[in-house]
Amino acid sequence: MARYGLPDNIEICKNCVMTNQKVTPSQVQRDTKESKKNTLKFVDGLCDPCRVHMNKTYEIDWDKRSEELEILCSKYRKSDGSWDCIVPGSGGKDSVFQSIMLKEKYGMNPLTVTWAPHIYTEYGWRNFDKWIKKGGFDNFLFTPNGKKHALLTRLAFINLLHPFQPFIFGQRNYVMHIAKQLGVKLIFFGENPAEYGGFEGEDVMSKMDRMYYVEDDRNNMKISGLTLKELDEKHNINEQDLKYYLPFTTKEADESNLDPRWLGYYLKFHPQENYYFAQDKIGFEPNDERTEGTYSRYNSLDDRTDGFHYWTGYIKFGVGRTMHEASQEVRNGELLREEAVKLVNKYDGEFPMRYAQDFADYIGLTIDEIHEIADKFRPDHLWEKVDGEWKLKFEIK
Ligand SMILES: [Zn+2]
Repeated sequence: MARYGLPDNIEICKNCVMTNQKVTPSQVQRDTKESKKNTLKFVDGLCDPCRVHMNKTYEIDWDKRSEELEILCSKYRKSDGSWDCIVPGSGGKDSVFQSIMLKEKYGMNPLTVTWAPHIYTEYGWRNFDKWIKKGGFDNFLFTPNGKKHALLTRLAFINLLHPFQPFIFGQRNYVMHIAKQLGVKLIFFGENPAEYGGFEGEDVMSKMDRMYYVEDDRNNMKISGLTLKELDEKHNINEQDLKYYLPFTTKEADESNLDPRWLGYYLKFHPQENYYFAQDKIGFEPNDERTEGTYSRYNSLDDRTDGFHYWTGYIKFGVGRTMHEASQEVRNGELLREEAVKLVNKYDGEFPMRYAQDFADYIGLTIDEIHEIADKFRPDHLWEKVDGEWKLKFEIK
């Protein structure tokens, strides 16, 4: 086993362009600098998301799933105008699709809930604004203490090379706390993580597993690689500051009796179609130029620091944003594998220069320091230095 628990030998999916180095969602509160990750399962040369996708395309009876959704909604639907479900999101194409489908097709009255991005992009903010105004939704937007969140992000970058880790805590857990406070039990998350690699059996689950939002071991859980005690003593960030970041205890989860679901279990998500849907319904705008690190213009564009989420994944696992997006488009039949191979070789791992200075200022480091820190996280089995330049030891072909 190589660093981070990655497989020693690199395998590339024969259908898409994903490798067996891709890690699957973790209990973020257990992340440490060298913690072992779970990685994608490969069977007969095929990655798990390709298997799940083939199932999604050929096996699932989507009409029956839609009926299941209708039954679920009728259990919670309110007729007095109060909120009967929650859709967490940022106003990206998927959250627009989710909330409008639930409202227009299933007659629900969703409350939308947003954990603010680190640094908005202009088009990201405009899309968020249109979602609420043109889509016609109530919204709870929570923006954590900007100074403390930036510090957590800095620590997560230095300790884990995972600058999005504190954001993930907030994004996963804030909505649970709000749902509990408001007594709105039904929550619709988007795609099932199994679409990109989940745990065994997750692809057939409609309900979100508690591993995503429950943790009882408060003494050992970590945020940004530090225990709650260390954050308090060394960085003056206490449990009260972190209340919306923290997962539920089992007791809180039991008391709240929430019903968090993957809408992707019930409705067939299709990234490109969701984009056209959002464009049609609210005038959703794409990026004004190609998103760095990939070839696309419409995925995840609301946060200036986004590029660093993918770039750090490329450093640690050799899996960048192009590999993610091109693999997905191959599965959806929008790209041929050979085209995907070319795109990965052209764009994957590109340094996100456009907002690099914003990000560096945000976490209080220089761009040189960002590179120096990142280099300490490159695993030997993936990287080598050739003529003074870092090169991946494998090639996608
Ligand atoms: Zn694959």
